[in-house]
Amino acid sequence: MGLLALGTPLSWDETKPLAEHIRYHGITQFLNTWDRWKDRTGKGLLWGDEIEYMIVSYDDDNRTALLSLRQTEILKKLQSVTLDPKLEQLKPKDCTAIPTFHPEYGRYMIESTPGCPFTGNPKDLISVEADMRFRRKIIRSHLLPHELPLTVTSWPRLGALDDGKLPFTDPETWPDTQKSSSRSQYVGELLTNPHARFPTLTANIRARRGSLVDIRVPLFIDQNTNVPDTEQKHLSNGIPTPAKPLPGTPSIHMDAMAFGMGCCCLQITFQAWNVDEARRVYDALVPVAPIMLALTAASPAFRGYLADVDARWNVIAASVDDRTEEERGLKPLKSDRYSIPKSRYDSVDLYISNDPRNKEKYHDTHVPMDEGVKQRLTEHGVDNHLASHLAHLFIRDPLVQFSETIDQDDQASMDHFENIQSTNWQTIRFKPPPVNSPIGWRVEFRSMEVQMTDYENAAFSIFIVLLTRAILSFDLNFYMPISEVDDNMQRAQQRDAAARNSFHFRRNVFPHDKPRERFDLTSRPVSPPAGQSPTSPTSASIRSESISRVNGTASSSSKPTTPTGSRRNSGDHLRPSGSSQLRSSVSAPPTPRRTGSSASRCSSEDEDIGEEDETAQMTLDEIINGKGDHFPGLMGVVNAYLNSLNVDVGTKCELRRYLDLIKWRSKGRLVTPANWIRKFITTHPDYKHDSVVSQSITYDLAKAVDEIERGVRPCPELLGHNYVGSGPTGCL
Ligand code: ADP
Ligand code: MG
Ligand code: MG
Ligand code: MG
Ligand code: MG
Ligand code: MG
Repeated sequence: MGLLALGTPLSWDETKPLAEHIRYHGITQFLNTWDRWKDRTGKGLLWGDEIEYMIVSYDDDNRTALLSLRQTEILKKLQSVTLDPKLEQLKPKDCTAIPTFHPEYGRYMIESTPGCPFTGNPKDLISVEADMRFRRKIIRSHLLPHELPLTVTSWPRLGALDDGKLPFTDPETWPDTQKSSSRSQYVGELLTNPHARFPTLTANIRARRGSLVDIRVPLFIDQNTNVPDTEQKHLSNGIPTPAKPLPGTPSIHMDAMAFGMGCCCLQITFQAWNVDEARRVYDALVPVAPIMLALTAASPAFRGYLADVDARWNVIAASVDDRTEEERGLKPLKSDRYSIPKSRYDSVDLYISNDPRNKEKYHDTHVPMDEGVKQRLTEHGVDNHLASHLAHLFIRDPLVQFSETIDQDDQASMDHFENIQSTNWQTIRFKPPPVNSPIGWRVEFRSMEVQMTDYENAAFSIFIVLLTRAILSFDLNFYMPISEVDDNMQRAQQRDAAARNSFHFRRNVFPHDKPRERFDLTSRPVSPPAGQSPTSPTSASIRSESISRVNGTASSSSKPTTPTGSRRNSGDHLRPSGSSQLRSSVSAPPTPRRTGSSASRCSSEDEDIGEEDETAQMTLDEIINGKGDHFPGLMGVVNAYLNSLNVDVGTKCELRRYLDLIKWRSKGRLVTPANWIRKFITTHPDYKHDSVVSQSITYDLAKAVDEIERGVRPCPELLGHNYVGSGPTGCL
């Protein structure tokens, strides 16, 4: 959750007059970092995940499962355990470092990250699951006997009050519409992390907005669902509704930040060699974000009801929507500066790379900018794309400021910058280097929902890491209009989107200066199937090209030193050839990419495929596994990348285990967590076909999710037949 400095938080009325000061110094701080880092090459790929857990307290006698509000005590314990040398002996041999644990928004939430970042070395990738499992085991081993560490995205009964009869938290908390920071009618103050940052964020969002947040998702309508007379009842078992409820249709209402920020997700952060590479990967991941949201969808129920959506995104976006009525376009602009189309939590609005393929026409939505900020940045020499990105983030006001840190040393702090940056919660985040740290430019992938098992969490993390390597290695082009990415975000949340929906995606992802045929790798598996020679023309051409590029780079004099405290060797052979600093030392023929004029590239591309046809609508299966002869799919490029490396067969097989999960899920042969949870609820004997997720159903669901993770309850429809759980107790 970013900064957790202690201090005296200011109210919204006290923060508002400081907004310009914070923005001004935030930009100064960015520019200082920019000057230090714009030409610097870092240590290349290092990456790590963040996994969020809910601590659930169950009672077998009463068949209840409640959110356990013991975050503070549990974290204290975990922090002391991780300092205890005894833990070193329990560490699986694949894990390099003792993990770290962090607080999150909900008082029932814990976040874990690896103790030191992973490399992109395939040997390192296949240890990711062990690292994740070690973290879960540490947490589990230090919970009370009736507590579970579950990785579910939305807690089905968060905010369900059942007429005041049953709480959903342990201990009980009740709403206080007069005094709580959210003023919610559904959730109490104790649900929120007590650190001053969180209640202040909650209260100041509400105060800035001028009203409680207003979250609505379409209700799943079943035979016996109680629908007000004023609203039409159409059974939802047919066609899924749009992800945002249409006016006058039944919806689930929520009114507090906790409904969104209290969801759990899976995030991945990658370090790039330099700022250009970070910007290139950022752009390429923008269209990938909704695709991965659909594939990981895991939240079919909110506030005790089944929703007609499968994913959390619109809920979390609305849960922190601090825009005033003027900014939301409900009133003419008078005291506010901008009309703002999106919440602070939403999908990316601008591509940021200077790649000539990043064309103006892809920016086809209204994106307000702080022109003063933009001018300062451009006058300092920051290019238009990056200046626009920052000027857009900086239309927002700071939400939490401590009185002790209003004046900062802009050479030694990034706090004012982070104040705005870290409360712009976009699908992808461009992270500048922290001050006084060897950490370089990074990109964070933020759209995915957390999965119930670490096998799945590892699979999605590995897939995204390999995809970034393929993007860089083959110089792939995923650009498409932002409006279509936004449309995909909505499609991704609809019920059963993974199996039913189609999504816009770019048809020709290959750089124009390389003939498409050379990448014709549709459905090519990692290891060639029997009868196919590994030196068949297509795979050989891509392999020899990549190996020579990669080898040439790795043996160059600019080879980076292994960072201290990092794992094994840092996978130098994975160093991509994209960065301009490295190109001169690459022994393979240099690729003409970006040296040719953008104009010639544009015109030939437009001749090649008409503008109308740059994107097509494809199923998830097609986007992942490929379509026809020309679109290899995201898995196709990942496979091609793996084929280009010198990876031993054993490691490839291990990686295959993870990649297969994504392949089969995108084909619909394995279901999403949302689909599985929905079915568990609707087929539960206590379910009354009224859309209500009762306490007893939630209890059985929590137990089942835990048993699946430990491997004591088979779940082949979700995980396939080879899943091995963390054992009968799941403890260390
Ligand atoms: P956030 O600000 O998004 O909450 P966290 O600190 O919780 O960030 O997590 C950041 C992730 O980035 C962790 O998984 C960590 O292992 C990883 N990480 C740490 N150092 C680097 C680095 N130099 N490059 C890339 N990732 C890193
Ligand atoms: Mg988090
Ligand atoms: Mg974090
Ligand atoms: Mg953090
Ligand atoms: Mg994060
Ligand atoms: Mg199109």
